[in-house]
Amino acid sequence: MSDSLSPSLTSVPNASGHFGAYGGMFVPETLMTPLQDLARAYEEIKRDPSFQRELDGLLKDYVGRPSPLYFAERFTEEVARENGGKGPRIYLKREDLLHTGAHKINNALGQVLLAIRMGKKRIIAETGAGQHGVATATVCARFGLECVVYMGEVDMERQALNVIRMRALGATVVPVTAGQKTLKEAVSEAMRDWVTNVNTTFYILGSALGSHPYPMIVRDFQRVIGEEARRQILDKEGRLPDVIVACVGGGSNAIGIFHPFLEDREVRLVGVEAGGDGILPGRHAARFQGGVLGVLQGTRTYVLQNEDGQIDLTHSVSAGLDYAAVGPEHAFLRDAGRVDYGFATDAEALEAFKFLAETEGIIPALESSHAVAHARKIAGALGDGKILIVNLSGRGDKDVQQAAKHLGISGEAKSVKTARS
Ligand SMILES: *Cc1c(COP(=O)(O)O)cnc(C)c1O
Repeated sequence: MSDSLSPSLTSVPNASGHFGAYGGMFVPETLMTPLQDLARAYEEIKRDPSFQRELDGLLKDYVGRPSPLYFAERFTEEVARENGGKGPRIYLKREDLLHTGAHKINNALGQVLLAIRMGKKRIIAETGAGQHGVATATVCARFGLECVVYMGEVDMERQALNVIRMRALGATVVPVTAGQKTLKEAVSEAMRDWVTNVNTTFYILGSALGSHPYPMIVRDFQRVIGEEARRQILDKEGRLPDVIVACVGGGSNAIGIFHPFLEDREVRLVGVEAGGDGILPGRHAARFQGGVLGVLQGTRTYVLQNEDGQIDLTHSVSAGLDYAAVGPEHAFLRDAGRVDYGFATDAEALEAFKFLAETEGIIPALESSHAVAHARKIAGALGDGKILIVNLSGRGDKDVQQAAKHLGISGEAKSVKTARS
């Protein structure tokens, strides 16, 4: 592609929702008008200073922003010890400290305010592990809006605690029984509801995925992570970081922290996908390892699929990274050579979960543990005097039972086994 044709890193998406060769609006005719209406409403509202003021006020007092940028001293020391006394200074961006425990609330809050401005009284959402469902149910309760969350039946069983949280918050959780009964089917059901009830209903999508304008809207509402991190590191270190690492499911926490640094070419950006049991068909969710160009649920991007275009089964120990498609802006940034993508396996993520708990007293979400694992892996090659930031997208309370099972940690009264044994 000639320079004049290739878009600059921050000028995407274009009016039709394309991030270079990726993104777009691959939806049935019935969804085109509502999506175009949404795009138009969003462009108007985002320029309204009163919208930004209201959002900023709630991010501060309700969500708990800014989240700290924390110097992880013992993590830093441990990495140096593993690498002959040399290593970067490691910081954690603490999205785990936000209300509801993860970055998802940044986007849910932004979209609910958009819904209110558009006059919609009913909110629907999809959820996989339940984190986005909980964030959406939370903001709906805050504004007294009806909330319906579609969730695969298998996920409801695996994440029963989040189902209870959503119901306690007054949301209706609808089990989805089609196909694999997980996130992909939940998205399809939410889409179906939206087509039928579009006059009254706003669909709050949870990651930087799906048809235009969602990848752009979600990115914009998550950019606050990177804007804060940029200010905070300049304040603490007097310069920009050398490396930023974030996990990539759909890609919203990663694009949120990366985006404000895209023009700073000296800052290396690294996304981490779920390597599952290793890069074997059906055993992982690393779209940039085994995926090909395809279309899934409204967007053109890298998709794990077979030669006939059937979507592959995916696997990850962390439900939030377990999806067959990656957000289209990540595909664009990878092609542009601006962001590198690696992966961490289930075993590496579990090891990192335990490592961060024991060295810093912070129990990370299994999703975020992938970023911690990869950061630890690449830190050795960085040497002294460098600065590395890990986006800690969420806290691990939701994951302790699963992690305990894999790590052999017991909760029994008579057991003497501890996390260290
Ligand atoms: C949902 C989730 C993710 C993955 O989603 P992205 O859109 O890729 O950020 C990562 N971490 C946590 C804690 C999550 O809840």
